[in-house]
Amino acid sequence: MTLNVGVIGTGMIGQDHIRRITHVLSGARVAAVTDVDLDRARTVADDLPGAVVHETGQALIADAGVDAVIVTSWGPTHEEYVLAGIAAGKQVFCEKPLATTREACERIVDAEVAAGRRLVMVGFMRRYDAQYGAMKAAVTGGAIGLPLLMHAAHRNPSVPDHYTSDMIINDSTVHDIDVARWMFDDEIAAITVLKPRRSTKAREGFNDPLFVLMEMASGVLVDVEASVNAGFGYDIRGEVVCEDGTVELSESAGAIIKSAAQFAGRVPQSWPERFAPAFDTEFRAWIAAVTAGGTTGPSAWDGYAATVACDTAAAALHSGQREPVVLRERPDLYKEA
Ligand code: NAP
Repeated sequence: MTLNVGVIGTGMIGQDHIRRITHVLSGARVAAVTDVDLDRARTVADDLPGAVVHETGQALIADAGVDAVIVTSWGPTHEEYVLAGIAAGKQVFCEKPLATTREACERIVDAEVAAGRRLVMVGFMRRYDAQYGAMKAAVTGGAIGLPLLMHAAHRNPSVPDHYTSDMIINDSTVHDIDVARWMFDDEIAAITVLKPRRSTKAREGFNDPLFVLMEMASGVLVDVEASVNAGFGYDIRGEVVCEDGTVELSESAGAIIKSAAQFAGRVPQSWPERFAPAFDTEFRAWIAAVTAGGTTGPSAWDGYAATVACDTAAAALHSGQREPVVLRERPDLYKEA
């Protein structure tokens, strides 16, 4: 059986997911697309045999020829489409963020709980990265003892001029927030954000880098250096310190060359380069789960918890204080996940 998916938002990542569904993976085809820029949607559809272009996301979701929906539009539009997908009883893959406010995420969680089954997967693709998977296996396997600390770094080579310090948290560190919750099967209890010396490459008034300190409910501490003008590459680092050993992400997924008393390997230059295999694995898992009648992976609860943590981190950035992360009670629907 081929799963017919509809894609809302044919911008950068929407087109990348369409490419992977059409040319890399099997089991699904893109049956419909839409975008607020309809010309862009039509151009994308030109390369998709039989794909319909809808004028709105709502029309795409209502299309009987669309079995499941992928939401890759601008973040503030996600709530509307995810809620419509749930109302239509269709499985939804939503790129991060699930929604941009705590309240919007709560409305999605409430709708899914009322539906009585999981219909939403959120695109936290690091959970599908082979290196992070090996790290989690080492942490949960127990051979190196109880985890105590995690050190992480999220370094972007550069960002567009409109990027703000809040976006370092909401757009970049959100992935480290999800990794922390997933790595330790735990919620974040409190967040402090410190402002190191400002990079001279950051424009006036823009705090870059940031140092984000998360206290997990268990007491594990997670620190994240988030830099968005690192220049040399897209450098994602992580090391978990346990009682009897440590586990860290590899320096390079590619070849290391040793020559003339030096060694060298490639630093990825962008998130698509670093995480392309993880995105493929993520969508392979989603297509298989939806074809089997359910969903998998990061849930609406995970999306809610990440958005609340981002809001809390932004508050901590502005207050200079340690801010507690306050979540509502986790509904039963998400307890077994
Ligand atoms: P993008 O290139 O700006 O694409 C978003 C597209 O959605 C644009 O074509 C935009 O049109 C369109 N759009 C805006 N409002 C819409 C609406 N109401 N209905 C339908 N389409 C609408 O952004 P992007 O980089 O692809 O990001 C899209 C989402 O993916 C964001 O939530 C982002 O955070 C997420 N993302 C996740 C990752 C990851 O690592 N998992 C990486 C990149 C992006 P206009 O340009 O005309 O506004």
